[in-house]
Amino acid sequence: MSNEIVTLNIDSLTDKGDGIAQWGSKRIFVAGALPGEEVSARLSGIKPRYAQGELIEVLAPVAERVPHFCPHTDCGGCQVAVMAYPAQLEFKRTLVAKALADQSLAVEVQPCFGMAEPLHFRNKALYQVQRQGGGFEIGFFKKHSHELVRTDDCAVQAPQVEELVGLVRQWMQEFKIQGHDEGRHSGQVRGLMVRNGQQSGQWMLVLVTLTAEVPHLDALVQKLQAQAPWLTTLVQNINGERTNRVLGFEDKVLFGPGAIEDNIGELCFSLSAQSFFQVNPAQTAVLYGKALEFAALKGDEQVLDLYCGIGTISLFLAKAAGAVLGVESVPQAIADAEANAKRNGAVNASFKLGRAEELMPALAADGYQPAVVVLDPPRKGCERTVLDNLLAMAPEKLVYVSCDPGTLARDLAVLTQGGYRIELVQPVDMFPHSLHVETVVKLVKEA
Ligand code: SAH
Repeated sequence: MSNEIVTLNIDSLTDKGDGIAQWGSKRIFVAGALPGEEVSARLSGIKPRYAQGELIEVLAPVAERVPHFCPHTDCGGCQVAVMAYPAQLEFKRTLVAKALADQSLAVEVQPCFGMAEPLHFRNKALYQVQRQGGGFEIGFFKKHSHELVRTDDCAVQAPQVEELVGLVRQWMQEFKIQGHDEGRHSGQVRGLMVRNGQQSGQWMLVLVTLTAEVPHLDALVQKLQAQAPWLTTLVQNINGERTNRVLGFEDKVLFGPGAIEDNIGELCFSLSAQSFFQVNPAQTAVLYGKALEFAALKGDEQVLDLYCGIGTISLFLAKAAGAVLGVESVPQAIADAEANAKRNGAVNASFKLGRAEELMPALAADGYQPAVVVLDPPRKGCERTVLDNLLAMAPEKLVYVSCDPGTLARDLAVLTQGGYRIELVQPVDMFPHSLHVETVVKLVKEA
């Protein structure tokens, strides 16, 4: 059966954006095929219940199909780029609507907010550097593999990213610097990260090396300063571990301040090599703007921001609130949040380190009663105890920001049973050409 070419009718998409077709008793996954299409595909990886299908030809395309904007279709990114952008947005809206309907929540979902120009939007790129034959290659992993795809013109990154990658490539060639050999766990350079501040115009390049000592780093510094004088800072990150994680924990600044700045709306943030920051700042401003609108603050409220990360939402709300308390479980994120509050003069924002499920009961016991609670949990959503404590705290409004429609709907079902009404459900597209969707939901306490 392997290598057999079959005709399939695609009826849906996986959450990664692969087409799904039923073929006898098996589900076949076909990357690049869209729901409603008839395609021919070559079968491989055959298991009792499912198999992979390599797309050979689209026999009957849907009207929403567009040519891929990038020749590197085997790269793991931009899974649904062949779907016209308005259709992607509508598909994301239906993903949220379906998740809500699965929980018997009968609420309308607003059209997904998209980008006017959904290209070159990312502010961060992470490349692998691999040993290949006598040389090396710099690129992204192919889907489901550790094989590299070289992309010299990635359409979702800024063009300057490729310029920096090109200069590092020349330096490695000139001085015979080795790429990472994963199997032997040897080599000199294992990755590159480029970050930029879209508002500030500042650029950071991070060279990830296996050891602290790498020859000819001074030549790299000279080359970058001469040929990319707009580069703000160069950082060496050392990662000698056997791990799939590109970045290690040790940074050495090779030139510049070791951090760049960027803005979301009027707020300014300092980003080091390690700090978390949303990768699509333009849409982040849209998302947080919605959170602020849904919170509808009058100016004197106590606001609780659960899962606050580096305090971005907290600071967005602080200007309009009496006081904001952010809760977050990662110590470095709390340190960044405090620094960000100081930098932006937000004297009414404070932060507590700890797990939401552990801090909530303590806050409630102290008599803390916020008028508005914003929650932005990781994909797995909230622990049941967090929701129970929220219901006991009984804030007037809840603003739930979610990156996973399934766990969002599960948690909303608990909150609606606990006396909250869903007033608005607004998806926002932070990751064009993938099926990720962020949703912000406004809930109000029933009288
Ligand atoms: N609101 C932030 C970050 C949201 S990402 C922003 O918009 O940038 C979710 C955050 O929740 C992460 O920073 C993660 O470290 C944190 N987190 C995960 N589990 C947690 C828990 N149990 N309690 C508190 N914070 C948690």
